[in-house]
Amino acid sequence: MGDMKYAELADLYKRLEKTTLKTLKTKFVADFLKKTPDDLLEIVPYLILGKVFPDWDERELGVGEKLLVKAVSMATGVPEKEIENSIKDTGDLGESVALALRKRKQKSFFSQPLTIKRVYNTFVKIAEAQGEGSQDRKMRYLANLFMDALPEEGKYIARTVLGTMRTGVAEGILRDAIAEAFKVKPELVERAYMLTSDFGYVTRVAKLEGDEGLSKVSIQIGKPIRPMLAQNAASVGDALREMGGRAAFEIKYDGARVQVHRDGDRVVVYSRRLENVTRSIPEIVEAVKQALKPERAIVEGELVAVGEDGRPRPFQYVLRRFRRKYNIDEMIEKIPLELNLFDVLYADDESLIDTPFHERRKKLEESVEENRRIKLAEQLVTGDVKEAESFYKRALELGHEGVMAKRLDSTYEPGNRGKKWLKVKPTMEDLDLVIIGAEWGEGRRAHLLGSFLVAAYDPHSGEFVPVGKVGSGFTDEDLAELTKRLKQYIVRQEGKFVEIEPKYVIEVTYQEIQKSPKYRSGFALRFPRYVALREDKSPEEADTIERVAQLYELQERFRARG
Ligand code: ATP
Repeated sequence: MGDMKYAELADLYKRLEKTTLKTLKTKFVADFLKKTPDDLLEIVPYLILGKVFPDWDERELGVGEKLLVKAVSMATGVPEKEIENSIKDTGDLGESVALALRKRKQKSFFSQPLTIKRVYNTFVKIAEAQGEGSQDRKMRYLANLFMDALPEEGKYIARTVLGTMRTGVAEGILRDAIAEAFKVKPELVERAYMLTSDFGYVTRVAKLEGDEGLSKVSIQIGKPIRPMLAQNAASVGDALREMGGRAAFEIKYDGARVQVHRDGDRVVVYSRRLENVTRSIPEIVEAVKQALKPERAIVEGELVAVGEDGRPRPFQYVLRRFRRKYNIDEMIEKIPLELNLFDVLYADDESLIDTPFHERRKKLEESVEENRRIKLAEQLVTGDVKEAESFYKRALELGHEGVMAKRLDSTYEPGNRGKKWLKVKPTMEDLDLVIIGAEWGEGRRAHLLGSFLVAAYDPHSGEFVPVGKVGSGFTDEDLAELTKRLKQYIVRQEGKFVEIEPKYVIEVTYQEIQKSPKYRSGFALRFPRYVALREDKSPEEADTIERVAQLYELQERFRARG
């Protein structure tokens, strides 16, 4: 029960900003969760992450910097121009909001201290303001908050609204903090989170029901499940051996993974990063309702763009569909999609994640009536290497990426990249790498970032280690787009070189991997070229330094064989 002063949360943000030590951050968050009243347990974890809603919630505040400045001006009487200039000076919008609030002539007589509930409820109202006059309403709601906000509170409200909170608290710290606060096992917190992707819910269960409650958490329609992932195998034969001589091989479609939740007429589709993409693909939503027999179900598949010749088109086409907000009908014609279903996690009020894969596949086949847009992923169950190889060869000839091998008896492991799913693709595949630096271009391209320092992920240290500089393969539009996106994440500039916060993943092709002392990783890509922006991947999902080493080994093995 109860509420809490927003000033206490502002104080937490401040303390988090002041330390880089993970253990200390964890302790601060844990202490805060301990004193959080039950009524706020579902929202405080998101606010701590600098968010209002989970990423998979469709609601967005829809407030840009301009509108925010207007609201601050209205609340304080400080002219908009002055606030804008101050932002240019400080380079930090939150700081400038605090400055403006300090200049405010006088607080209103009726001023009430802000509470977390009030701030959160206002955020919800802002997100839900739609249609005519909504910009103005959003602005007024915000102005009302700023009117009652202390300078420090205003700073963090502004950062939350714009999504620029930088307290260094990510999912890992929050998970450990929940465990510490309520004396529950971190593995159980992790498990519950992988199943529901909902820190609010998990925090509540941890506090009110402890380990026992957490271990009973199961998947739920309407809450996306972290996808199970695959490791690499060098060949179809290796994959078969790893799986004990017999496995299910499936075409590895090259599109975008989606998870479809159906509850009667309501269908929600999540992307691989668990964003709600339902609105962008109405024809698939309709087709799913036709195809799925169970009224309540969760299925997974790969959404692929198909060309007129029936062959798959590059996955970027699907991402273009996801991004489109208007004139969607036109896109349905331009970029036709096909959904290849490969798993079922829930059907007829029963979770299937602990059911062996071959039974899930059977259930999937029973549950789906294929139509023009919805298909079952093509599958071959075999113990015969030759047969598996020709399946693989055919997949490549048809223009697919390769094949997936799946252990027949494997359960579904949310969020895990284990050996129960193995992918086989031609070697010297492209790498997905994180941009961590760049150089400004020259001459005509002086206003654009031109050459990018890219890094692989090291899951052990959590660091991004450079493996090369990518300076070719871009069109002018690519560079303009990348510059626009990356600019806000520049953390340091030295001459022409800028250091960039690891936010964006790009796909990079190259001629070979060399051993090189030039980079700390010990590897350097030879002739790297840009292929595409991988918006569907977070930096932690980029290729790892182990993968680079593994590809190097494969390359050398091939070379030795001639
Ligand atoms: P990649 O860059 O190779 O796609 P990834 O990191 O995106 O790798 P992986 O775990 O390596 O993901 O490979 C599994 C991905 O392959 C799935 O997330 C899914 O998007 C895609 N996929 C295509 N066809 C299938 C299939 N039949 N079964 C499972 N996943 C498939």
